[in-house]
Amino acid sequence: MRIAIIGTGYVGLVSGVCLSDFGHDVVCIDKVEEKISMLNSGRVPIFEPGLEELIKKNVAAGRLSFTTDLAGPVGEADVVFLAVGTPSRKSDGHADLAYVFAAAREIARAVKGFTVVVTKSTVPVGTGDQLERIIAEENPDADVAVVSNPEFLREGAAIEDFMAPDRVVVGMNDDRAKTIMADVYAALDPQKHPVLFTSRRTAELTKYAANAFLALKLAYINEIADLCEQVGANVQDVSKGMGLDSRIGQKFLNAGPGYGGSCFPKDTLALVKTAQDHNSPIRLIETIVGINETRKRAMARKVERALEGDIRGKTIGILGLTFKPDTDDIRESPALAIVQALLDKGAILQAYDPEGMPAARGLMPEISYRDGVEDVAKDADALVIITEWKHFRALDFGKLKSLMKQPVLIDLRNVYVPSEPLSHGFIYDSVGRAD
Ligand code: NAD
Repeated sequence: MRIAIIGTGYVGLVSGVCLSDFGHDVVCIDKVEEKISMLNSGRVPIFEPGLEELIKKNVAAGRLSFTTDLAGPVGEADVVFLAVGTPSRKSDGHADLAYVFAAAREIARAVKGFTVVVTKSTVPVGTGDQLERIIAEENPDADVAVVSNPEFLREGAAIEDFMAPDRVVVGMNDDRAKTIMADVYAALDPQKHPVLFTSRRTAELTKYAANAFLALKLAYINEIADLCEQVGANVQDVSKGMGLDSRIGQKFLNAGPGYGGSCFPKDTLALVKTAQDHNSPIRLIETIVGINETRKRAMARKVERALEGDIRGKTIGILGLTFKPDTDDIRESPALAIVQALLDKGAILQAYDPEGMPAARGLMPEISYRDGVEDVAKDADALVIITEWKHFRALDFGKLKSLMKQPVLIDLRNVYVPSEPLSHGFIYDSVGRAD
């Protein structure tokens, strides 16, 4: 199968590399020349565990290549995947489909023969219909079937998620496309990794329904954590007690500073907008969008409380800036809002993140970026763990105490058993653990 992927970002690159590993001939396309020339010289523009090795393997096997030329590979392809960004539209929070539509016009002009055009990007219900219209408008002779195949991978575990998915959802209204999409995923064992065929609109909605549900779980446990703090209970034990019920499950029940990342915030908002537009508002999700937004600044107030209400002029060390570990992605990371709130309160910030600092520097120029944990601790009045990188899981509290102005740790990911920092004389606060 000849496959072209348009958009070589977190999703497009991982999808392209994994599809080539399935045995398909894949060309990954991007408009950003720098990305493509990096990939062509053997370097990887994003941090994702295992990706570099898999790229090398498939490039060497002659199944994977990278280019800025869209027309050539699209003309040759049996299947074209759209994996461009769909950020929130600034004006109203709807998904901004400008990149998707622009790419669709380019595809329309380039296709030759029957071609399946697949949206991997997360797009609102009905986008497939719009794409069909746009392609027909641009090239009335184009013979295409538009399919929805939303992506569920998690950054940091993206390869495993793509190669061994819980499920693949494929939505279409065209039988020719069904056969081809079954071939695309033929390498997956259907017993372990089922491919669910649905209508196109159903597939489009499934992605939003799934993401909003995960965000809902997080927002829920975060509110339970707040209640734990008020009533003297422990949210980790509550989570365990809930999650051991197989109807609920353990995952996505870790209380923290609020969900972030390039998907949950924008996808919950887009679902809210779609539902309102169809006169079927989802109030549950409207509510959690608000809850999550206010939570991040509330975390800055937690830091302030740990420093007895006064952080003006105090030096605060930030450990972790990415929205989760094992990625360099800081899009919509809770760190952005927490950092801003701390700066607004007059704090002086120094930070370390194993992979996120190149991206963070542009967005948060007020921070002093440091080389490691000890450098961040130097002369700090408090340390705040925002991202639970493994680098922060075995801190040398004795050493840190000797470097800091005062030993205060605010652990927004509940990485530590409280007795550990407390036994070293730290003032310690975490999330939802008041027992
Ligand atoms: P990204 O910003 O990392 O990548 C998008 C890429 O598309 C960029 O490199 C951009 O240069 C390129 N691009 C835009 N227009 C183009 C065009 N006309 N031709 C060629 N290249 C073009 O975005 P991402 O994180 O990979 O997300 C892509 C989509 O996948 C989004 O809809 C997102 O919601 C969805 N998604 C993301 C994740 C995730 O974890 N990042 C998971 C599941 C789904």
